[in-house]
Amino acid sequence: MKFVDEYRDANLAQQYARKISQIITKDWRIMEICGGQTHSILKYGIDELLPSKITLIHGPGCPVCVTPIQLIDSALKIAALQDVIFCSFGDMLRVPGTDEDLLTVKAKGGDIRIVYSPLDCLELSQKNPNKQVVFFAVGFETTTPATAMVVYQAAQYAITNLSLLVSHVLVPPAMETILGSPKSQIQGFLAAGHVCTVMGYEEYNPIAQKYGVPIVITGFEPVDVLQGIYLCLQQLESGQAYCENQYVRSVEQQGNSIAKKIIQEVFEVVTRQWRGIGEISQSGLGLREKYASFDALKRFAEELSLIKPSYVSSICISGEIMQGLKKPHHCPAFGKECAPEHPLGAPMVSPEGTCAAYYRYRNYQNQTLMV
Ligand code: SF4
Repeated sequence: MKFVDEYRDANLAQQYARKISQIITKDWRIMEICGGQTHSILKYGIDELLPSKITLIHGPGCPVCVTPIQLIDSALKIAALQDVIFCSFGDMLRVPGTDEDLLTVKAKGGDIRIVYSPLDCLELSQKNPNKQVVFFAVGFETTTPATAMVVYQAAQYAITNLSLLVSHVLVPPAMETILGSPKSQIQGFLAAGHVCTVMGYEEYNPIAQKYGVPIVITGFEPVDVLQGIYLCLQQLESGQAYCENQYVRSVEQQGNSIAKKIIQEVFEVVTRQWRGIGEISQSGLGLREKYASFDALKRFAEELSLIKPSYVSSICISGEIMQGLKKPHHCPAFGKECAPEHPLGAPMVSPEGTCAAYYRYRNYQNQTLMV
């Protein structure tokens, strides 16, 4: 398949690994921001192909993992209500809230449906006029245009039985938070190609310059990731720091102007909580006042006022993992109390979660705890 096979070419991957070995002279720490890249690195053994001077650090780019537990508890409450059809992408169903997950609510009789596109919710709300349809809108900039289109069309069709629990977050403020932390040791970034396909990469050059850190917009196939690392190393070894685009087959500097326009129409930038990390200023999207009637938090405010305080497992170190300070095998629960069949934290559930990637591809669950 074009644009896939050539980026999984083992010979090309080996060539990039050799080129990397030829130019590297020092130890470098590079963070890949996106969980899709993390899975690619572990699945294809990219980290094991690289010289030991390179440490790859896994970032917070798993939208399911950063959704705050308070919002998951709100989802659980709404999904359990009679006359509600609660819609979500499949990977949210097993993310633990304080007491249970959406799959458990479904087993108890909640009408919870997995959708493949938020636009399916429009049809559901039209076919079920006596039900309240609620969509759990989780994701980075990549999935935001489709959510925005749902809200825009619902307003156009005067649909009144559809609302959204919005947890859309933005990548650049998270990168700045990580780089601004006194604990940060990140020297280079691989930014997320799909996010930049939508948003472009004009925002990234000022970050690269402010923190003196190269940022390479990178794709997800093994050759993409290796080429991204190579480009990042070229900058590091020559003392430069700017934003460069490896994923040229998809990303343009300005991004997708039509997608950005619909996002701008429906959403405004707001401060958001990130699970495990805390509040990040201007790091999320909320519905504009014009579309506030589609906000599920407002529509179900009375029911949500009865929720007890949320509680996160004290064992889970997902916050430190998502900030690149620790790796999954540093968690005492990894592969024991916490596994994909009984997760304690979202990174063990999501197909983009770092803990799930280590569990699936590295078999650390059967090994003695590493340090
Ligand atoms: S292994 Fe489980 S408990 Fe530990 S950090 Fe990952 S998700 Fe949290």
